[in-house]
Amino acid sequence: MKRRTFLKFAALAAVLNPIEILAAASGNHIGKGKTQLRQLKVHPLELPAMSPPVTRDAHVKDYLTKVRHPNTPHKDDIILEPDQFQLLRSVVERFDKIQTHAGHGNFCVLGFEDALLLGEYHPEIGSFTPQELDFLEIIYHQDALDYGFKGEKQLVTLNQTINRKDLFKVPYSGNYLFRGESLEKYKRVKKNLGADLVLTSGIRGIPKQFYLFLHKAYRHGGNLSLASRSLAPPGYSYHATGDFDVGQKGFGGGNFSEKFTTTPVFRMLASEGFVEYRYKRDNMLGVRYEPWHVKL
Ligand SMILES: [Zn+2]
Repeated sequence: MKRRTFLKFAALAAVLNPIEILAAASGNHIGKGKTQLRQLKVHPLELPAMSPPVTRDAHVKDYLTKVRHPNTPHKDDIILEPDQFQLLRSVVERFDKIQTHAGHGNFCVLGFEDALLLGEYHPEIGSFTPQELDFLEIIYHQDALDYGFKGEKQLVTLNQTINRKDLFKVPYSGNYLFRGESLEKYKRVKKNLGADLVLTSGIRGIPKQFYLFLHKAYRHGGNLSLASRSLAPPGYSYHATGDFDVGQKGFGGGNFSEKFTTTPVFRMLASEGFVEYRYKRDNMLGVRYEPWHVKL
């Protein structure tokens, strides 16, 4: 974050309580996961205790059930409290307006600072409130392991931007890829699979990943763990560093389901050995199977 904006944010944060100021101003972890969880005022789903003794096998089975049914709530899930849920809703609505204003393609590669400025200068979007900014800072710096997401963080700072010179807009896809290794890999795949193959998602900057992750959590009652089983929390997505998603032309939403494995595009990808998957079936990263996600 630029100093000017950072200072402004720190001043706005000063209306919050001292621990919130620390979280907002430091831009860093203010402690290990558990402290952060108290900041988020989350609580686990309350279900009756399991009676049989929990063995390692039971843990593995429990884990696999979670990643095989990512949209089913689980007893250990981290869920936002009602007041935090209201913030979640207002933040999702604001990102939604920013996306409408910027257009899908541009929104994908927008930096966090750009998103704040768009809100500031366009009354139809409106500035993020201090409480919303504080909420976003806390979400960004939360250790995703607390949700059950075991992937590594890809970006460290919230203000990481994408250099426009590094971008290539892939025709007819509405998505961008990084010039160099990522674009070359896409071109190789495209050359071999032809018009049947479409790029369904390319680079995602921080606002886009925030939007996807928080929108998913919003649709599922503020369940952050559930969201993290299908969407990497902001900062953790490999879409920020060059991975991309592909699909079968005309297959719509089916491209983001296991049905994708029944398509000619998937069969050719697999048989040609083009794809090394980031999230294999029953991976131990806490993420559902994503046969459409191409690892760079
Ligand atoms: Zn992906």
